Amino acid sequence: MTFASLGLIEPLLRSLETLGYQTPTPVQAQAIPAVLAGRDLMAAAQTGTGKTAGFALPLLQLLTMEGPKVASNSVRALILVPTRELAEQVHEAVRQYAENLPLSTYAVYGGVSINPQMMKLRKGVDVLVATPGRLLDLYRQKALKFNQLQTLILDEADRMLDLGFSEELGNIYRVLPKQRQTLLFSATFSDAIRLLAGQMLNDPLSIEVSPRNVAANTVKQWVVVVDKKRKPELFIHLMRKGKWKQVLVFAKTRNGVDALVEKLQGLGINADGIHGDKPQATRQRALDRFKASEVQILVATDVAARGLDIEDLPLVVNFDLPIVAEDYIHRIGRTGRAGATGQAISLVCADEVNLLSAIETLTRQTLPRQMEHDFEPEHRVPDTDASGQVVKKPKKPKKPKTSGGGKRNLGKWVESGDASVPEPSIKPVRKVPVFNTGPRKRKP
Ligand code: AMP
Repeated sequence: MTFASLGLIEPLLRSLETLGYQTPTPVQAQAIPAVLAGRDLMAAAQTGTGKTAGFALPLLQLLTMEGPKVASNSVRALILVPTRELAEQVHEAVRQYAENLPLSTYAVYGGVSINPQMMKLRKGVDVLVATPGRLLDLYRQKALKFNQLQTLILDEADRMLDLGFSEELGNIYRVLPKQRQTLLFSATFSDAIRLLAGQMLNDPLSIEVSPRNVAANTVKQWVVVVDKKRKPELFIHLMRKGKWKQVLVFAKTRNGVDALVEKLQGLGINADGIHGDKPQATRQRALDRFKASEVQILVATDVAARGLDIEDLPLVVNFDLPIVAEDYIHRIGRTGRAGATGQAISLVCADEVNLLSAIETLTRQTLPRQMEHDFEPEHRVPDTDASGQVVKKPKKPKKPKTSGGGKRNLGKWVESGDASVPEPSIKPVRKVPVFNTGPRKRKP
């Protein structure tokens, strides 16, 4: 199959040739003809599958072939994304695909001054990539009108809900024209996403290019169990032992990112960090330097790292497990892209056993465990498996009490594997975001 056989016009084919894209990926092969035919789309596609071109190429073609010239302060197509980094990344891809077309493109997001964005929008923009909060600010300040909008694209829709953007999405949805084409892309499909799709899409075509909620099988994954306080030490030990060259590390919180970066830098290791508290320019610079291999270790929170396209990343380390199990799939999706093999190592302490269990249930696999010599945990990490069971070690019996009269009352001794005693099971904690309810959460 070729891009030409999917019905793409010559200026787009030329851009693809420049970029070296020869064959459409599975998501592109399905999405391009459907979008060109005007269908709404609900697509499950992991990052790295080529989904951006899957929606951007037919979108650009439709905008070129149909519709009026863009009016001032108007947009003809809107691509909503969860983070600033993704906005930059998607915009850059769209800009490259549109290289030979008479279309204008732009990206707006928070954390930077709104005035230059307002100025730029005065002329109108054919394709606008935006994060939901800043888009609403611009709309409320009358810098944007939606009456010319013909296409809405929700990219990484699951992540937008996870980040608490459901209220913003509802507000945006209410001010858009009802007559429009809508494309929804999400790496994973939770019930909340299906609900959102039900509200926003009209008779959508469903596309699923990878099995639901399954991590890329080109990524070798395992867990190293360790006590929480020894994680930094273990990380450094593994890094030296494995002679790691380029590693993307995920930590749970902004403070966690800063603490690890400081520790690594203190040892002369070339490390940098990105999280939501850092100015956009600093985050972009750290990312660019990491991509150019000028930074060896990049430590990030989920928000900052979501959707980043880093080629040939050999290793992802989960310094902390993600709170939301779906994020595990996104995190390890940074490696093993386009058929390359990758590795994903998770450092797991006893506190994280329920998170581990939720990940194993979601990805339908039991992650192999390893223990590093000299780092054996004092706090045992209970066994887990893909069934969602957390197998707690039976408690040691209390010392038998001696009651009055010297008669010994022996407590019931529970041997492990005693079939008469049911294994305690703890259901994994899964967060289900709900569309249009609840307050906006703090960024991690
Ligand atoms: P995405 O899933 O949209 O983030 O794309 C992942 C990476 O694959 C990006 O670096 C794209 O430039 C690249 N890519 C997308 N489609 C193709 C294709 N058909 N052939 C080669 N590379 C592609």
